[in-house]
Amino acid sequence: MAKITLSNLRHSYSANPSGPEDYALKSIDLDWQDGGAYALLGPSGCGKSTLLNIISGLLVPSQGRILFDGKDVTDLAPDQRNIAQVFQFPVIYDTMTVRNNLAFPLRNRGVPEAKIAERVAEIAGMLDVEDMLDTRAAHLSPDNKQKISMGRGLVRDDVNVVMFDEPLTVIDPHLKWKLRSKLKELHQRVRATMIYVTHDQTEALTFADQVVVMQDGEVVQIGTPVELFERPQHTFVGHFIGSPGMNVLPVVEESGGVRFEGHPIALEGAIAGQGGKTAIGIRPEFVTLSDAGLPARVRKVSDVGRHSVVEAMVGDTSVKAVVEGEVPLQGAPVHLAFRQDQTRLYRNDWIATEAAS
Ligand code: ADP
Ligand code: MG
Repeated sequence: MAKITLSNLRHSYSANPSGPEDYALKSIDLDWQDGGAYALLGPSGCGKSTLLNIISGLLVPSQGRILFDGKDVTDLAPDQRNIAQVFQFPVIYDTMTVRNNLAFPLRNRGVPEAKIAERVAEIAGMLDVEDMLDTRAAHLSPDNKQKISMGRGLVRDDVNVVMFDEPLTVIDPHLKWKLRSKLKELHQRVRATMIYVTHDQTEALTFADQVVVMQDGEVVQIGTPVELFERPQHTFVGHFIGSPGMNVLPVVEESGGVRFEGHPIALEGAIAGQGGKTAIGIRPEFVTLSDAGLPARVRKVSDVGRHSVVEAMVGDTSVKAVVEGEVPLQGAPVHLAFRQDQTRLYRNDWIATEAAS
């Protein structure tokens, strides 16, 4: 196991990049602590696979260094980096049995057969594939092929890091949650550094202790699931995490405060900086319907199971509130209150208020 450091990393697939838009990774400085359970979360095309492939050595970055425990590995080939990588689509040997597929990464490293048998049995147990061990991989369903692929990634206990690149894409929905919790359990058992790449917030938040959120080739925030939910550093994180995402409402700054649709809004703390585009961010969970507050009109009510989402118009701006129990009718006049300690200011999309103490 090792601590992994990415230092001043940039990558362009173009031979002569001219501007930032030619870079799949713009400027990445990141430490992955030894033994951590990380998720790398971001929309399709934001550079997640590029980053993983640079860590594993499949790709040489245009600029920057990769260090394992302080040792520079930037010029090392993938097989010299001691890494396990699980891809979106299964990588297994069709002609081999499941047992031999799982054993392969160990045989390759000259691990004694007795130890191999032990590890294979352990991994097969964890993944619930014991009854398939003597089946040829060619005969497996896509789900099971991917499970074996994941097993191959997990079977060695001497790797620096295990990386999963959207491994549940081909897995049936009902199996997804099961494998997701399995992986979490597995991490707690083996304590290897794991990096789990996904565009799905649920997958990221259930698996990871630390989530690295990427947008457009840049890291916008690193934090625990709670930190990302409670205090998004960037409006993108506010939108991307949460269901529905954070309300981002344009405001006008004036004499140390802000107005939203003409109404003064109390913020969590002092405002930093000045100028630029300003908006307040408040999660729908912290907007309540109350007798006092901003006058609004209900535009839409959606029942989403445990609670409802009420969308109301304040002037020309739509605001969402998560409401438990009774909900107003469409078109009804209501008043909205924002919980002050959860009302943040964003300037040019970056947080610009100090947290309430
Ligand atoms: P993600 O895994 O987050 O979906 P990728 O790392 O695959 O994102 O891609 C990041 C950006 O780099 C995208 O704009 C994608 O089109 C581009 N890209 C990825 N692979 C290549 C490649 N082999 N050649 C050229 N462009 C690529
Ligand atoms: Mg990808």
